[in-house]
Amino acid sequence: MYETCRAWMELNMEHLRHNVRLLQSLLPQGCALMPAVKANAYGHGAAAVAGELQRLGIEDYCVASAEEGAALRGAGIRGQILVLGYTHPWEFALLEEHDLTQTVVDYDYGRELEAYGKELPVHVGIDTGMHRLGESWENLSRLESLWERRRLRITGVYSHLCTSDGETEEERDWMRLQERRFLKAVQSLRTGGRTFSTHLQGSYGILNGKRLCGSYDYARAGIALYGALSAPSAELRRRYDLRPVASVKARIACIREVGAGEGAGYGLAWRADCARRIAAVSVGYADGIPRALSGAGRALVRGRSVPVVGRVCMDQLLLDVTEAEGVRPGDEAVLIGRDKGLEIRAEELAAQAGTISNEILSRLGARLPRVEV
Ligand SMILES: *Cc1c(COP(=O)(O)O)cnc(C)c1O
Repeated sequence: MYETCRAWMELNMEHLRHNVRLLQSLLPQGCALMPAVKANAYGHGAAAVAGELQRLGIEDYCVASAEEGAALRGAGIRGQILVLGYTHPWEFALLEEHDLTQTVVDYDYGRELEAYGKELPVHVGIDTGMHRLGESWENLSRLESLWERRRLRITGVYSHLCTSDGETEEERDWMRLQERRFLKAVQSLRTGGRTFSTHLQGSYGILNGKRLCGSYDYARAGIALYGALSAPSAELRRRYDLRPVASVKARIACIREVGAGEGAGYGLAWRADCARRIAAVSVGYADGIPRALSGAGRALVRGRSVPVVGRVCMDQLLLDVTEAEGVRPGDEAVLIGRDKGLEIRAEELAAQAGTISNEILSRLGARLPRVEV
């Protein structure tokens, strides 16, 4: 158990259940949550998270790769598993073996899937302006011709919004334009008797769903499901009671008294202006704590918020605990999570490191045991 860990991650499954219910309440009748459990469920542990979701009655999941999908099958996940990303033709057997639904990433890829020679379930990706994956919404005849490929069992059609988290008028307009393009393609494909499910929104498409007008069969929620926003937003925090599933904690190894003018850490990048107490904490960038937090981040120790000093190391970092009373070796330092009345959210840590919480969470290292609390 975590009492003996140098560093660990705590998972609050009650918060996961709460976030599921909250997101479901934001979706219109008939729209099912299709959680994104890619990248090891954003670092939380795909088997544990998907297992819990399955117990809650969730039947559809999306992952980034066929390998991730196969791993979920190995963990006993039974519903539809959609592979959002590219699968090499040599790996198509993996799709078949594990009954995974592959994204048709463009027209030519549809031909490769057909050439596999056996029927495969697929969702067709439509590029409505992000220019990442999907056949262009404008190439209607190419899209239509995918239905003539007999071995493609097309069960869904989807697109991805690239400015749904934006607050400027321009970003909102772009999101609406993407939706109009998507609906236009969907409408054309449906005439002619083609039937399929549709999906468009990720987390921010759900949270900002009032800006959309269509109704869809699924919503692919990722980051919000884990109780985080990508970036801090007082407005969204107020509007939605998302509860963080993950905390990251580490143990203090030892404490040093550092005199005025002395430095600490690599490059002696930090120097004490007066006598300070410095704690070495057993977590570093190899565990996913970004080196960009050097001299910028904070942690919670004994109910106090204390600064990261000097450079974050591979396996350790230093905190200035002068202001925290009674700190001892063996104490916990909270990098993400709560301590007494204080809290550090993943999006706040991410902002300090110049990134988004999605990156922070999904890169939390394999070295951290995941402990359900
Ligand atoms: C990762 C991903 C999602 C989930 O995104 P969040 O913003 O984390 O909710 C949805 N759709 C696609 C295509 C994705 O790649």
